[in-house]
Amino acid sequence: MVIVRSAVDEIVRHAQAESPHECCGLLLGDAARIDTATRARNDSPDPTRYRVNPEDHFGAIHAARATGRRVVGVYHSHPHSSASPSFTDLAEASYPEYLYLIVSPSSLGEDPVDTGALRAYWLRDGRAIVEALRVEA
Ligand SMILES: [Zn+2]
Repeated sequence: MVIVRSAVDEIVRHAQAESPHECCGLLLGDAARIDTATRARNDSPDPTRYRVNPEDHFGAIHAARATGRRVVGVYHSHPHSSASPSFTDLAEASYPEYLYLIVSPSSLGEDPVDTGALRAYWLRDGRAIVEALRVEA
Protein backbone atom coordinates (compact mmCIF):
# COMPACT_ATOMS: atom_id res chain seq x y z
CA MET A 1 0.00 0.00 0.00
CA VAL A 2 1.26 3.44 -0.92
CA ILE A 3 0.86 6.29 1.57
CA VAL A 4 1.72 9.87 0.77
CA ARG A 5 4.31 11.62 2.91
CA SER A 6 1.88 14.31 4.10
CA ALA A 7 -0.46 11.65 5.52
CA VAL A 8 2.43 10.01 7.39
CA ASP A 9 3.43 13.40 8.80
CA GLU A 10 -0.14 14.14 9.89
CA ILE A 11 -0.48 10.80 11.71
CA VAL A 12 2.83 11.36 13.52
CA ARG A 13 1.90 14.94 14.50
CA HIS A 14 -1.49 13.78 15.81
CA ALA A 15 0.05 10.95 17.85
CA GLN A 16 2.61 13.30 19.38
CA ALA A 17 -0.03 15.92 20.19
CA GLU A 18 -2.33 13.45 21.98
CA SER A 19 0.35 11.44 23.78
CA PRO A 20 0.15 9.96 26.45
CA HIS A 21 -3.44 9.38 25.26
CA GLU A 22 -4.17 7.27 22.21
CA CYS A 23 -5.29 9.18 19.13
CA CYS A 24 -7.28 7.92 16.16
CA GLY A 25 -8.34 8.96 12.69
CA LEU A 26 -9.41 7.85 9.23
CA LEU A 27 -7.43 7.15 6.08
CA LEU A 28 -8.78 8.31 2.72
CA GLY A 29 -7.77 7.15 -0.72
CA ASP A 30 -8.36 4.14 -2.93
CA ALA A 31 -7.46 0.45 -3.01
CA ALA A 32 -3.79 1.14 -3.73
CA ARG A 33 -3.04 4.51 -2.18
CA ILE A 34 -3.72 6.47 1.01
CA ASP A 35 -3.61 10.17 0.21
CA THR A 36 -5.12 11.75 3.33
CA ALA A 37 -5.14 11.12 7.05
CA THR A 38 -7.93 12.94 8.84
CA ARG A 39 -8.19 13.25 12.62
CA ALA A 40 -11.15 11.84 14.53
CA ARG A 41 -12.25 12.30 18.09
CA ASN A 42 -11.38 9.38 20.34
CA ASP A 43 -14.57 8.46 22.22
CA SER A 44 -12.88 6.01 24.57
CA PRO A 45 -12.76 7.21 28.20
CA ASP A 46 -9.74 4.94 28.67
CA PRO A 47 -6.52 6.70 27.56
CA THR A 48 -5.07 3.37 26.46
CA ARG A 49 -7.95 2.55 24.13
CA TYR A 50 -9.53 4.18 21.15
CA ARG A 51 -13.00 4.34 19.68
CA VAL A 52 -13.51 6.44 16.56
CA ASN A 53 -16.25 9.01 17.03
CA PRO A 54 -19.14 7.87 14.77
CA GLU A 55 -19.91 11.39 13.48
CA ASP A 56 -16.27 11.87 12.52
CA HIS A 57 -16.28 8.47 10.81
CA PHE A 58 -19.43 9.36 8.87
CA GLY A 59 -18.00 12.79 8.02
CA ALA A 60 -14.86 11.22 6.61
CA ILE A 61 -16.92 8.81 4.48
CA HIS A 62 -18.85 11.77 3.06
CA ALA A 63 -15.73 13.86 2.48
CA ALA A 64 -14.12 10.95 0.65
CA ARG A 65 -17.17 10.27 -1.53
CA ALA A 66 -17.46 13.94 -2.45
CA THR A 67 -13.99 13.74 -3.97
CA GLY A 68 -14.28 10.31 -5.61
CA ARG A 69 -12.38 8.49 -2.90
CA ARG A 70 -13.33 6.35 0.06
CA VAL A 71 -12.29 5.60 3.62
CA VAL A 72 -9.80 2.77 3.26
CA GLY A 73 -8.57 2.48 6.81
CA VAL A 74 -8.19 3.75 10.33
CA TYR A 75 -5.14 4.75 12.34
CA HIS A 76 -4.43 4.95 16.04
CA SER A 77 -1.44 5.40 18.31
CA HIS A 78 0.31 3.29 20.93
CA PRO A 79 1.93 5.95 23.15
CA HIS A 80 3.59 3.39 25.42
CA SER A 81 4.15 0.38 23.22
CA SER A 82 5.28 -0.73 19.80
CA ALA A 83 3.27 -0.39 16.59
CA SER A 84 1.88 -3.91 16.84
CA PRO A 85 -1.79 -4.80 17.29
CA SER A 86 -2.78 -5.33 20.90
CA PHE A 87 -5.06 -8.13 22.03
CA THR A 88 -7.82 -5.51 22.21
CA ASP A 89 -7.08 -4.31 18.67
CA LEU A 90 -7.51 -7.85 17.38
CA ALA A 91 -10.60 -8.53 19.46
CA GLU A 92 -12.35 -5.25 18.57
CA ALA A 93 -11.40 -4.91 14.90
CA SER A 94 -14.75 -4.64 13.15
CA TYR A 95 -13.77 -3.59 9.62
CA PRO A 96 -12.12 -6.45 7.71
CA GLU A 97 -11.99 -4.24 4.60
CA TYR A 98 -10.03 -1.50 6.44
CA LEU A 99 -6.29 -1.22 6.68
CA TYR A 100 -5.26 -0.55 10.29
CA LEU A 101 -2.29 1.75 10.78
CA ILE A 102 -0.63 1.88 14.18
CA VAL A 103 1.93 4.50 15.15
CA SER A 104 4.25 4.37 18.14
CA PRO A 105 5.32 7.95 18.89
CA SER A 106 7.85 6.76 21.49
CA SER A 107 9.81 4.77 18.91
CA LEU A 108 9.97 7.39 16.18
CA GLY A 109 13.20 7.61 14.25
CA GLU A 110 14.26 9.48 11.18
CA ASP A 111 11.64 7.73 9.07
CA PRO A 112 8.53 6.34 10.82
CA VAL A 113 7.96 3.62 8.22
CA ASP A 114 11.58 2.47 7.84
CA THR A 115 12.04 2.30 11.62
CA GLY A 116 8.80 0.41 12.24
CA ALA A 117 7.21 3.21 14.28
CA LEU A 118 4.35 3.21 11.74
CA ARG A 119 3.02 -0.13 10.58
CA ALA A 120 -0.03 -1.36 8.71
CA TYR A 121 -2.13 -4.47 9.23
CA TRP A 122 -5.24 -6.20 8.03
CA LEU A 123 -7.09 -7.41 11.12
CA ARG A 124 -9.29 -10.33 10.18
CA ASP A 125 -10.70 -13.24 12.16
CA GLY A 126 -8.65 -12.31 15.22
CA ARG A 127 -5.40 -12.33 13.28
CA ALA A 128 -3.06 -9.59 12.04
CA ILE A 129 -1.58 -9.67 8.54
CA VAL A 130 1.22 -7.19 7.91
CA GLU A 131 0.85 -4.90 4.89
CA ALA A 132 4.03 -3.23 3.60
CA LEU A 133 3.83 0.56 3.33
CA ARG A 134 5.58 2.53 0.63
CA VAL A 135 5.86 6.27 1.17
CA GLU A 136 5.51 8.59 -1.81
CA ALA A 137 5.88 12.34 -2.01
ZN1 LIG B 1 -3.98 -0.46 19.55
